Amino acid sequence: MNIVLLGGPGAGKGTQSDFLIKEFGMMHISTGDLLRDAVERQTEAGIKVESYMKSGNLVPDEIIIEIMKEKFSQIDLSKGLILDGFPRTVVQAQKLDTMLSEINSKIDKAILIDTPNEVIINRICSRRTCKNCGFIGSVANLDDEEVKNYRCPKCGDKMIQREDDNKSVILNRIDVYEKQTAPVVDYYKNKNKLFSVDGSLPAPSNVFENIKTLIK
Ligand code: AMP
Repeated sequence: MNIVLLGGPGAGKGTQSDFLIKEFGMMHISTGDLLRDAVERQTEAGIKVESYMKSGNLVPDEIIIEIMKEKFSQIDLSKGLILDGFPRTVVQAQKLDTMLSEINSKIDKAILIDTPNEVIINRICSRRTCKNCGFIGSVANLDDEEVKNYRCPKCGDKMIQREDDNKSVILNRIDVYEKQTAPVVDYYKNKNKLFSVDGSLPAPSNVFENIKTLIK
């Protein structure tokens, strides 16, 4: 099954992707991760997208579609695909349908992780990401000393705060989501492919239980 995970910044798309990979061994593509890697390596695309990402704006469709085309030429869809952070505009959603139909495939379901803005803001401000393996954690219940010494529970590397995980950038990312990405929700709704789960549940594993009922 090929699924698109939808939801605002901090809705838990990355965390739920980790659960899906672990449970079903699905192929995962996160455009945010691909872009951060390109920025880190200062590739041609990375240099072009850096300022958009820092400010919380969307990277232009042409750039992201090129990156996805390349990725699609390398992937094996036999175990199913999770798309995390793509599509983020209706143009991208249309292009995705075209790209998949060219390889005789399609999106089966779009799952919206529906999360109120207050939850998103609190969650993102305390989110930390492993520099090495991308593990996503939270410092919400840690004291200052524990925050300073916070290491990745998976690989032991340093947990860092993403440059775009600060309050002013978050407010812009929420605004960008509402203006440019919310129409993608309607795109899948009109195709009867949209399903929704409550993303505000405190335990991510409970959100995953609900996602599992949708994809079995
Ligand atoms: P994410 O990790 O999914 O929150 O993405 C981080 C940033 O990467 C976003 O704020 C955008 O600047 C950029 N980005 C990721 N995916 C896309 C996309 N599909 N279209 C445009 N920009 C994207």
